[in-house]
Amino acid sequence: MAKRDYYEVLGVNRDASADEIKKAYRRLAMKHHPDRNPDNKAAEEKFKELSEAYEVLSEPQKKAAYDRYGHAGVDPSMGGGGAGAQGFEGFSDAFSDIFGDIFGGGRGGRSNVYRGADLRYNLEISLEEAARGSEKTIRIPTVEECGTCHGSGAKPGTQPKPCPTCGGAGQVRIQQGFFSIQQTCPKCHGTGRIIPDPCLSCGGAGRTKGHKTLEVKIPAGIDEGMRLRHAGHGEPGVNGGPPGDLYVEIHIRSHPVFQRQGDDLHCEMPISFSTAALGGEIEIPTLDGMARLKIPAETQSGKVFRLRGKGIRNVRSHHHGDLMCHVVVETPVRLTERQKELLREFEEVSSGDAERHNPKAKSWMDKVRDFFAT
Ligand SMILES: [Zn+2]
Ligand SMILES: [Zn+2]
Repeated sequence: MAKRDYYEVLGVNRDASADEIKKAYRRLAMKHHPDRNPDNKAAEEKFKELSEAYEVLSEPQKKAAYDRYGHAGVDPSMGGGGAGAQGFEGFSDAFSDIFGDIFGGGRGGRSNVYRGADLRYNLEISLEEAARGSEKTIRIPTVEECGTCHGSGAKPGTQPKPCPTCGGAGQVRIQQGFFSIQQTCPKCHGTGRIIPDPCLSCGGAGRTKGHKTLEVKIPAGIDEGMRLRHAGHGEPGVNGGPPGDLYVEIHIRSHPVFQRQGDDLHCEMPISFSTAALGGEIEIPTLDGMARLKIPAETQSGKVFRLRGKGIRNVRSHHHGDLMCHVVVETPVRLTERQKELLREFEEVSSGDAERHNPKAKSWMDKVRDFFAT
């Protein structure tokens, strides 16, 4: 049912003082009082309407809510939970957070109260930060109440007006055959009000964009693509709906030495061919610093050394992954004459018994011969 503007009901201007409102109410209430108009239905309705309007406009907090949100701000029947008949009881106590309490929480009724949108923030961190955990300060966009119009969206000195299409209810009923369907008002999009003179700072939105900083605690062991939820740091709700959440999505920069696979780390470990042949000890990097690794004699390229517990500690199980070092035997380059001489001599000595010293090459060569023979 369409409701009339309370100021209109009392026949006063929007900037009327408390005294003017009181006087207007007294005058009209006397005129339409049921005692003076026995069995007059119209007068009775009129009197009810007056009382309701006065009840809101005589109470500063209710008046402020009405000025800002129209009937939606003060009408208990909009609050859901079938509270329609209870009048305004308890309403003013709850005013400070009515827009979270009365309209929020999915208690039904208001279709123009929305939870704010969730936001996603992509945060790039180093592998070391992921492994050890860290704290980061991030700057996130916020939407704040406009300082010029204090959220009303109306140019200072003007007021939003109740929507003429839905009378401020935000909803319209459409008759279709036997059914009547309730729909969000197409003119005001469910807000129940229209703004004839929009605020210049926010263009009538009542909100402006800003920034805030937030501390993000990154737990040790976090992996690529994991999300950290920061409840309530998303966009603010609409018409008092609860805010959304902020999800910080972790992206790990590629590391010059290590590749991560789950909780294991992999790295390439180039060793000289003499170390590979004779064995030795080499220094290898780990996330905790350098470590020494014994290379047994006759180590081949592609051999993997597993260093237990030198990977990443799992973010949930706290179990440590391993570090896998993949051996790459490096062919020496930029050889001096002396080195070349030694290698030629080495080759000469070795070629006499290739099967013994290079068994892989020997068996491979045999396979190739067989292949061409058949
Ligand atoms: Zn504004
Ligand atoms: Zn409307």
